Amino acid sequence: MCGIVGYIGHREAYPIVIKGLQRLEYRGYDSAGIALYDGKSIKLSKTKGKVADLKERLESEISIDGTLGIGHTRWATHGIPNDVNSHPHYSNSGDLVIIHNGIIENYDSLKKELINRGYTFQSDTDTEVLINLIEDVKKNENIKLGKAVQIALNQVVGAYAIAVFDKNKPNEIVVAKLGSPLAIGIGDDEFFIASDASPFIEYTKNAIYLEDEQMAILRRGKDIKIRKIKNDALVDPYVQELQLNLEQIEKGGYPHFMLKEIYEQPSAILDTFRGRLLSNEAIIKMAGVEDNMKKFLAADRIIIVACGTSWHAGLVAEYIFEDLARIPVEVEYASEFRYRNPVITEKDIVIAISQSGETADTLAAIKLAKSKGAFVFGVCNVVGSSIARESNAGAYTHAGPEIGVASTKAFTTQITLLTLMALRLARAKGTMSSSEFRHHLIELETIPGKVEEALSSDAYVKTVAEIYKDSKNCLYLGRGFNFPVALEGALKLKEISYIHAEGYPAAEMKHGPIALIDEQMPIIVIATKKGHYEKVVSNIQEIKSRKGKIIGIVTKGDVSVKELADHVIEVPETIECLTPLLTTIPLQLLSYHIAVMLDKNVDQPRNLAKSVTVE
Ligand code: GLU
Repeated sequence: MCGIVGYIGHREAYPIVIKGLQRLEYRGYDSAGIALYDGKSIKLSKTKGKVADLKERLESEISIDGTLGIGHTRWATHGIPNDVNSHPHYSNSGDLVIIHNGIIENYDSLKKELINRGYTFQSDTDTEVLINLIEDVKKNENIKLGKAVQIALNQVVGAYAIAVFDKNKPNEIVVAKLGSPLAIGIGDDEFFIASDASPFIEYTKNAIYLEDEQMAILRRGKDIKIRKIKNDALVDPYVQELQLNLEQIEKGGYPHFMLKEIYEQPSAILDTFRGRLLSNEAIIKMAGVEDNMKKFLAADRIIIVACGTSWHAGLVAEYIFEDLARIPVEVEYASEFRYRNPVITEKDIVIAISQSGETADTLAAIKLAKSKGAFVFGVCNVVGSSIARESNAGAYTHAGPEIGVASTKAFTTQITLLTLMALRLARAKGTMSSSEFRHHLIELETIPGKVEEALSSDAYVKTVAEIYKDSKNCLYLGRGFNFPVALEGALKLKEISYIHAEGYPAAEMKHGPIALIDEQMPIIVIATKKGHYEKVVSNIQEIKSRKGKIIGIVTKGDVSVKELADHVIEVPETIECLTPLLTTIPLQLLSYHIAVMLDKNVDQPRNLAKSVTVE
């Protein structure tokens, strides 16, 4: 995920593009770049770091004029964040320039073909492959840029929002979209391009949101032409009037980043699957696992090290790895592990989980594990982060930037990624039959749709939040795969609403917390059909006998819990090991609504920081 901005018209492009990039920095901020064209020469400048670094560098340079400009703030997927990998990228001839948000999944095979045809590459990005593919098509077929973009995109698998211009055509920018967002602002004889409308809201309220598989040619002083990439059919432009203010747009119309990120989960999970889950072919492709398969198969055990929400994802993974791949797993708080002289050998695999990839305790834990000879596999969201670099191998969750301090989409994408890993290892170890394996892949593929369905309980969850918002304490119970979800639900409530909450394995309640239960106490019980259902129903009976208030998280169509509970929130049915991806959703929404009702700072709760880079 990244931010793209562009302008073509009669104004100086630079101020529009640079300000636009700053507004889009929430989408990615590991490097930034701009290309400006005044009809004679292209000025391209890019740098690792923030947009502010780029601005400083540009404004000390001589001239930054041009009425055509494109800019990019990157969130690296292919190639570490450095100057060379930053966008924009030139084609080999230096005539074409591109910015790109997304992932070209088949970039590797395309790159090999282009190298065979004599192309060379400066960067490690998939984007540079795309611009050279466009150039190759353009030259071979002797056609204009728009046509070449179209033909090239028909050879591409993946996701993109792109803007491309040609040095020989100073009055035109070509844009296209599939999977990543692209808005076009329509002014008087001028066009604005951006990942969302925030960069151009003060210039025009008229915008077109390109749909997937559409492209447009923006010509200075001409009407916009939109076509379908597949069959070249012309599409009638639908120009809408923007009603939003700036702040709303940056948050995509959501009042808080946390809510936006909760709602992004279906697409974030899809991005975690991208290029890895190939259910038609019944395979999972994960380079970091494939390349080290021998090590994984020879491992005595897996030790998962993490902190906070990532630790909860690790606990879910423990259940999944042991159940599917029959590998013994231990889950450790990184802060404890690093200081307790743990027994680690070369036959151990350490999986380090961290959204930011900068968590200080986790980083120290993996350094310790490496020094004892263990093989370290990093699971991070932020590309090029310290933990990603320090690990022997790893995989990114590709959830896109998470800005709300309370982690939501990072948690579900970590579980998704670890599930893919467990399935891949189960297949390699032969602990699952091919039909079971295929069944799991097909079911996993339905999860984004089911998360979407789980999100539809939002309005009802809000009414439940209204009833319990003034509680002083709250108990969360779950069993099996959903015990860590109970811990995560309690953590979410604590961190953003400051209500004391505890998560417990449901059966452990009678060993202590049951003493807390009275008619004031809300108890959230995860009681899905698959997963010790009858046992959990008995636990609910025990709570009811002590007059506790019961909020059940149940499978759609549930009858028994409905009869006992004060409220039930339904989630769609799925196989047991995937239920955490659905039961988490109402718990996130519940804590979000309670915190909003209590007027707390949801995105930046007191005393917390997004990435904990101190021990
Ligand atoms: N895949 C491209 C890269 O790694 C674009 C990533 C983005 O969307 O920021 O540079």
